[in-house]
Amino acid sequence: MAFVPTMTFEQARACVVQQVSAARQRPAMEDAGLESLAGRVMAEDVTAERDIPALARSVRDGFAVHAADVPGTLEIIGEVRAGGRFDGAVARGQAVEIMTGAPMPRGADAVVMVEHVTRENPGKLHTDRAAEAGQFVNPQGCEARAGEILIPAGKRLSYPDVALLAATGRERVPVFVQPSVAILATGDEIVPVNETPQAHQIRNSNAYSLAAQVARAGGRPRMLPVARDEYAHTREWVEAGLSCDLLLISGGVSAGKYDIVERVLADCGAEFFFDRVLIQPGQPLVFGRARGKFFFGLPGNPASTMVTFEIFARAALELLGGQCETALPFIQATLTQDFRHRTGITRFLPARLGPGPGELTPLRWSGSGDVPALSRANAYLVAAADRAEWKAGENIHALLQ
Ligand code: AMP
Ligand code: MG
Repeated sequence: MAFVPTMTFEQARACVVQQVSAARQRPAMEDAGLESLAGRVMAEDVTAERDIPALARSVRDGFAVHAADVPGTLEIIGEVRAGGRFDGAVARGQAVEIMTGAPMPRGADAVVMVEHVTRENPGKLHTDRAAEAGQFVNPQGCEARAGEILIPAGKRLSYPDVALLAATGRERVPVFVQPSVAILATGDEIVPVNETPQAHQIRNSNAYSLAAQVARAGGRPRMLPVARDEYAHTREWVEAGLSCDLLLISGGVSAGKYDIVERVLADCGAEFFFDRVLIQPGQPLVFGRARGKFFFGLPGNPASTMVTFEIFARAALELLGGQCETALPFIQATLTQDFRHRTGITRFLPARLGPGPGELTPLRWSGSGDVPALSRANAYLVAAADRAEWKAGENIHALLQ
């Protein structure tokens, strides 16, 4: 096999983003309804059909006035509530009672809060507060102008985006078809979930954590059977997996005698971009392309599979799904205890965020197979490769689980 490089975490991440960005094609489109848009990717720019708000609106309960008239005593000539309209105009010395969200009556240029007026009979109010023009008024178009792009094509829809689409009357919108992702677990020790493993066997948990991660990242998981550590069987299912938009393989990429995944991929004509990354867990990690499809060979230890999906495969999947960008949401957290590690490798270790805001506590775990520890965790502590020690109270990166 041709030489395949080892990369640092940063190099490998940049490599995935660059390779997939350069090779991907625009996905097909389909329409989806407002109730099923969470996590979908917009396929076309959405523009504002009219100014938002369409009219100047009050943002307080109070009185619409001429700012220049206050402080002073004003005549109350009517009221306007949200959903209503005041047809007249407010002349100097006059006020219209107004509720939050109601359109500003003509003439008025400011709102005085109801808490800052006293009513005087008959039909008068007094305020001893001054106001500036525009006070407590949202001008027409202050949130967006008619024709302005509200949501660009390639944006993964958040719940505020769904609110915006609903507010602008889009019941169905064009989104990209979600990439299909083949999930192929390998290993003679792996048995299906509904079988009782013998002492030397374990159940196939990786396929299911991956399916959950794929769905969360906007892909459609396709479960393949477990491939035996045997050339012909592994090749059969790798080839089947290459018919999907992305192929994820778990296990079989280490240096053991029965780790045959790389050889099978090479025989399928694969180009390899890296096959080892200086991270833990997950060092023996393969990324490449065969028959026009990207694949990841993820190491089989559950923590390795989970972490390498999140930090590498997820970016590929998001880009294949038509997202215009992909980001790894590292946050800064404050360590609750001292932490040290051996430099040279970027580590992603199970940790808990909380209970105080931004506090991070590394969890005890017995290594990459410790799924109970990963289940107790809600984040990964990210230990940079070039720093050995952090003291309690110092900041460190974390990645939300
Ligand atoms: P490998 O990367 O094939 O050397 O696998 C390393 C270890 O990961 C194996 O010894 C298993 O304990 C575990 N493992 C591999 N595949 C799976 C799987 N599908 N589900 C759960 N654990 C797995
Ligand atoms: Mg194996």
